[in-house]
Amino acid sequence: MGWRIRVRGQVQGVGFRPHVWQLAQRFGLNGEVLNDAEGVLIHCDAAPAAFIAAITAEKPPLSRIDQIEVTEAEYEAPSGFVIAASGAKGAETRVTPDAATCPACRDEIHGHGRRAGYAFTNCTHCGPRFTILNALPYDRAQTTMAPFTMCPDCAAEYVDPADRRFHAQPIACPTCGPRIWAEPEGDAIIVTAERILAGQIVAIKGLGGFHLCCDATNPTAIETLRTRKHRPTKPLALMATLDTIHRYARVTDADLALLTDPAAPIVLLPKADALPDALAPHQNQLGWMLPYTPLHHLLIETVGRPLVMTSGNLSGEPQVIGNDEAREKLGRFADAFLMHDRDIARRLDDSVERAKPPMILRRARGRVPSTIPLPEGFEDAPQVLALGGQMKGAICLTKNREALLGHHLGDLDDVLCAAEFEKAVTDYSALFDHKPTVVAVDAHHGYRATRYGQTLGLPVVEAWHHHAHLASCLAENGWPLSGGPVAGIILDGTGLGPDGTLWGGEVLLGDYRAATRVGGLTPAPLAGGDRAAREPWRNAMVRLDQAGLSDWADELFPDAPRDILRHAVTKGLNAPLSSSAGRLFDAVAAVVGLCPMAQSYEGEAAMALEALVDTSIDGAYTFGEDNGWIDPSPIWGQIRDDLRRGVSLSQIATHFHRGLAHAFADVARDLFEQGKVAAVALSGGCYQNVALFTMTKARLEGIPTLVHREIPANDGGLALGQAMIAAAQSI
Ligand code: ZN
Ligand code: ZN
Ligand code: FE
Repeated sequence: MGWRIRVRGQVQGVGFRPHVWQLAQRFGLNGEVLNDAEGVLIHCDAAPAAFIAAITAEKPPLSRIDQIEVTEAEYEAPSGFVIAASGAKGAETRVTPDAATCPACRDEIHGHGRRAGYAFTNCTHCGPRFTILNALPYDRAQTTMAPFTMCPDCAAEYVDPADRRFHAQPIACPTCGPRIWAEPEGDAIIVTAERILAGQIVAIKGLGGFHLCCDATNPTAIETLRTRKHRPTKPLALMATLDTIHRYARVTDADLALLTDPAAPIVLLPKADALPDALAPHQNQLGWMLPYTPLHHLLIETVGRPLVMTSGNLSGEPQVIGNDEAREKLGRFADAFLMHDRDIARRLDDSVERAKPPMILRRARGRVPSTIPLPEGFEDAPQVLALGGQMKGAICLTKNREALLGHHLGDLDDVLCAAEFEKAVTDYSALFDHKPTVVAVDAHHGYRATRYGQTLGLPVVEAWHHHAHLASCLAENGWPLSGGPVAGIILDGTGLGPDGTLWGGEVLLGDYRAATRVGGLTPAPLAGGDRAAREPWRNAMVRLDQAGLSDWADELFPDAPRDILRHAVTKGLNAPLSSSAGRLFDAVAAVVGLCPMAQSYEGEAAMALEALVDTSIDGAYTFGEDNGWIDPSPIWGQIRDDLRRGVSLSQIATHFHRGLAHAFADVARDLFEQGKVAAVALSGGCYQNVALFTMTKARLEGIPTLVHREIPANDGGLALGQAMIAAAQSI
C-alpha cells in the first residue's frame, strides 16, 4: 500500500515539483511527483501529517493551493524520490501570470556572481510567463526564449531539483540569454539614465510592451511627452523604488502589500505635492509601481529618481511590442530607445489597482491568466466564450468549473484594438483548449464584439449590458445559481437596455437568469449622442432645462451652441434618452466648472469631482424619489444656491456624492426590508469612485452587500457576467 496526494490550484510552472521533491528528501519518503491535467500528483510510501502540512506551509511564492486530497492507494514505491515525466495528454495546461523579480534574483543582479547586472535574471519564483508564451505546454521551446540556447551553466541549474532555477523555462545568463542595447548608441543602462536625467524621452522595451519614459521630477520633460503624445491631461503612471515612493506618498500597509505583490500593479496612492502637477492635473491620486524586471531595477537605481512610465502607443492604439514597430511608431515621441532582443509574445498593459477598498481598475499584466471558480450550481456549465463590451474590451472563457477573464484590450472603436481583440479570442481559445458551445455577447448590435460573435456559427446569447454587470458581481462573490434574487445598483456610463434606451443608473432585481429594472435615475437626453460623453456641458444643460433652470445654463455656458442643441433635443434628433449615472457626474462637474467644455479622456470630469470630496463634511443633497425612481432635478437649485453663497466646491462635491449614494442605497434597502432580495450588489464603472462606493456601503450597513475586488466594476468585467448569464440559461 501507499499514498496518493492530489494538489489542485496554481501549481504548475511555479516550482511545485521541486518543492515536493525537497520535502520528500527531508522526510525520507520514496515515490514520485508529476504534473497532470488536474494539477500536481504525488505517489509515495508514507504521508506523515508534517509532510502534508509542509506542502502548504512552505509552498513556492507563486503557487496557490486550492485543495489537497490525501488517499490511501495501491502503490509500489521505488527507492528514492523522483520527479517523473508529465502524466498523459492534457497535462501542464496552465501558465501563471508574469511575476516581478524576486528578492533572491534582485540580490544576484546587485551581487558579483555571473548574473551581476544582468537584465534578464529570473527564476522559478519570478520572471516572465504569459508575456513570452507562444503555445502550451509551457516549455522553453514554446516561448520567445526558444532562440536562446542554454549554456552549460544554465543547463546544469535547469536540471537540478535543488536549484532555484530547476525547470525555470526563461532561465538565462549573460553568456546565453537575451541582451539589451541603447539606440542610437551607448551603454544601455548608463546612456539611457543620462538621457532621462537630461530631460529626454526614452522608449523602453519592457515585459508586455514598450513604455515611454521620462524624469517624473522634470516638468519640461513631462510637458514635452504630453505634447508629443497628444495627451494633455490623462494621468501618467510612475515607477520608482520603494524608498523613493515613501519620499513622495503616504503608503499604508495595504498599499505596501499591493505594491510588492508579485503582480507589481500600478497602485493608486494619494497625490504627492512635491511632484509636478502635470503628472495628473485635477486629480488627487497618482499611480505608482515598483520596478518589476531586472532591466527596470538596473535603470531606476542608476537614475535615482521616479520615472514616468506610460504605455508606448499611438493614441487609442494598443501598446507597441515589436522592435521595428517601436522604431516606426514611437520614433516621433521618443528621443532614444532602450531595446532588447527577447520577443514579447503577448501584449499586456500594466494592471491598475487600489489597495483600499481593494479593486482592480485595469486587469492585465500579473493578473492574467488566473481564473476564478464558478459558483455553486454551475458544475455542469457548458464552455462559454463571452466577448465583452465595446470600451475596455476583455473576453471571458468558462471551462471545468472555472472562468478565465482575459486581459484589458482597450477600446474596440480603434481598428488595431479590434484586431487585438480577435487575436485574443484565437489565442486564449488555443491556449486553454477551449471548445465553446455557446457565445455570449452584449445586446448592442453596434458593438464590434457583438458583431464578431455573430460570425462564429455558434448559438449566441445576447446579454443586456447592466444585467451582465450584475451577474459579474454575483459571480465574483460566489453567489450560488439558486441563491435567489438580489438588488443590483448598477451605476455606469451607458449600455443598451431592453426598452431600447441607454441605461446607466439602474436598480435591477434579479439573478443570473434574468433581471428587471425596478428603479433608477430618471432619464435625460444625451444631446449629440456620443459627443455628450466628451462634452460635460451638454449633460448639464439638459438636466438644468429639465429642472426649469435654463437661465442658469445660459449663464454658465454662454459660448456653447445651446440653441442648436436644444432644438435637436426638442425634435429628438441625435438625443437618445439615457439614465447614465456617468453623465450625471459630468453634468455636476460642468456646473461647478470642472472640464465644462471638453474632457480629454473618459472619466476626467467625474474623477476631478471625486477628487474634491472631503468625507469629513456632513450632509447630502436631496434627490427626488418616486417609487424607486431617482430624480436629480431638485439638486440643481441646491447647487446653485451653494455656489452663490460661496460654499466650497469640496462641500458641493461631497453633498452630491452622498446624496446620490443615499438615494440609490435607500431604494435597495427598501427591497431588502420588503424581503424581495437577500443581498445588494454594486457594479458599473462609477463604483471605481471610492467616495461613492464608501458612502453607498455605509448607507447599506447591516445588509449583505456584494462588491467587486478582483474583477473590474467597469466594462472590463462585463464578459464574466455575460458568460454567467449564458451558462445559467443553458443549465
Ligand atoms: Zn527570481
Ligand atoms: Zn546561460
Ligand atoms: Fe458598462
